[in-house]
Amino acid sequence: METIFSKILSGEIPCEKIYEDDFAFAFLDINPVNPGHALVIPKTWSAGFLDASEDTICRLIPAIQKVAKAVKEATGAEGVNIIQNEGAVAGQKVFHLHFHVIPRHAGDGREHWHGNPISAEEAKAVGEKIRAKLG
Ligand code: 5GP
Repeated sequence: METIFSKILSGEIPCEKIYEDDFAFAFLDINPVNPGHALVIPKTWSAGFLDASEDTICRLIPAIQKVAKAVKEATGAEGVNIIQNEGAVAGQKVFHLHFHVIPRHAGDGREHWHGNPISAEEAKAVGEKIRAKLG
């Protein structure tokens, strides 16, 4: 499946590459939340996390950890957000699996969405539905 990231992988579109191994590739986001914001992708294609093979996940996660440690140390960040947006409604724009590695600094003003309290009854109802799917 051709996406902007397959063109980056093939070298058709330039990028600021920071890491590559047999399976994974990482480069800086063109529109970073903070400087050092990186994207880690598998060289094989899946649209997102949910359709990725177990092999893809097992081989990608160590690369994400390696890149996240390097991003954190290189930028002097105190923390890192590791995020994957699954589906357009969740903010996914590029349909080639990727994890964002975003360095975070105290007082950088980047906000998370806010949660809302849930009643015990509501939690039980949704918990039951999810447990039924998990078997
Ligand atoms: P998503 O919203 O799909 O989770 O994230 C896609 C990310 O890819 C965005 O943060 C966006 O800035 C980044 N991006 C989109 N096009 C390019 C590109 O051509 N080069 C680079 N380096 N990043 C890109």
